[in-house]
Amino acid sequence: MVQKLRIFSLIFIHILILLHIFYWGDQVVGSVDFQEFFHSFLKHGVINAGVLLVLIAFIITLIFGRFFCGWACHFGAVQELSWFILKKMNIKPKTIDSKLVTFLPLLILVHLYIIPNLFFANNSSWNISIKLNEHSIWAFLPGIVIGSLTFIIDGFLIIYFLGRKGFCRFICPWGAFLKLPNSLALFKVRKTGTCTNCHACNDSCPIGIDVNYEINKHKKVTNTNCTSCMLCISGCPSNALSYAYQNPLKEEISLSHYMPAKNKINDLIKKKNHFESIRNQDWIYLLLIFLFANSIDGLYGIGHFLAYGIAIIAAFIIINNKMHTLLIKYALTSIIILLFAFHGIIKINIYLGNQYYNNKDSTFLQRTIQDYAQKMGKY
Ligand code: SF4
Ligand code: SF4
Ligand code: SF4
Repeated sequence: MVQKLRIFSLIFIHILILLHIFYWGDQVVGSVDFQEFFHSFLKHGVINAGVLLVLIAFIITLIFGRFFCGWACHFGAVQELSWFILKKMNIKPKTIDSKLVTFLPLLILVHLYIIPNLFFANNSSWNISIKLNEHSIWAFLPGIVIGSLTFIIDGFLIIYFLGRKGFCRFICPWGAFLKLPNSLALFKVRKTGTCTNCHACNDSCPIGIDVNYEINKHKKVTNTNCTSCMLCISGCPSNALSYAYQNPLKEEISLSHYMPAKNKINDLIKKKNHFESIRNQDWIYLLLIFLFANSIDGLYGIGHFLAYGIAIIAAFIIINNKMHTLLIKYALTSIIILLFAFHGIIKINIYLGNQYYNNKDSTFLQRTIQDYAQKMGKY
């Protein structure tokens, strides 16, 4: 029943998206991209449709948790569709357990969206203004080539390599933005009955949360990746879980609830069929992701999401020992590192070239450097 309601909600959102594109157009409501909050409001002080969406999502999250993610996000729906298709093809990828699911999206949010825009705002005249249709619907969306690649890599391939909701768990900065209000949410999944430790809730959770551990340790789900989808509640055969309100003054809140505990995931790991831990390789994985993503981000018109999607899959191929024979592993690792190193050198040269020519009036040479590698454009 819950899943049917969610599917209905997600279909309804897609109807609204179509109405936005074909009926209202951007004369009435402009871009409702989450990026608007950072690129329009943080940077310039402009309140537009996208900024309002983010503020509404923030307030809803403070009350109901990350409802937006579980019930309304278009890209969350794409990933669920991908999981569904893979299941129909009899492919069931393991959900990757890593401490990076707590930190990496936050890092991407702060590094790419908060710091640069705050820095800009600090050095410019920041003024509050309201312009509901300031940007066109497509303002932050790439052209068809990069857009399709982003869709395929972040929506589908990432699920194959990292498991259910791989993009939400490892990359999405908007999900990270909602982590803070989610930790304070009034309504949460709470333990309200007797748990028989059957782990059915863990199996139902699309985010790979150890629900069984959390509700027995804290009497509620504390993981800020929880999207209030309620699948664990409907999947519990003992009716031990409810989506319940708690007076915030009586709520026990501790920072330790929100940190990835060392052994927290034990129960998940025991269920080898569904989960695979890469926690002992987290640091090397993080380093590879960061280097790879930054070596291609911006080249050919590649956006942050696509750069991180490619980097996260490529780095996973390198660190995953179970995927291939030793020979294939070394061959793949060498090719991947060479490709990213090549693009990293291009990025360093673009940076150095710009630094050099920025100080001189040499517009032609500067443009030559900026245009290499060529953006793919919107076609
Ligand atoms: S984490 Fe991001 S992509 Fe995933 S459902 Fe939430 S907003 Fe959508
Ligand atoms: S813990 Fe429950 S409500 Fe939260 S994401 Fe997992 S299944 Fe959904
Ligand atoms: S499904 Fe219910 S009974 Fe089973 S482990 Fe989860 S909360 Fe406990």
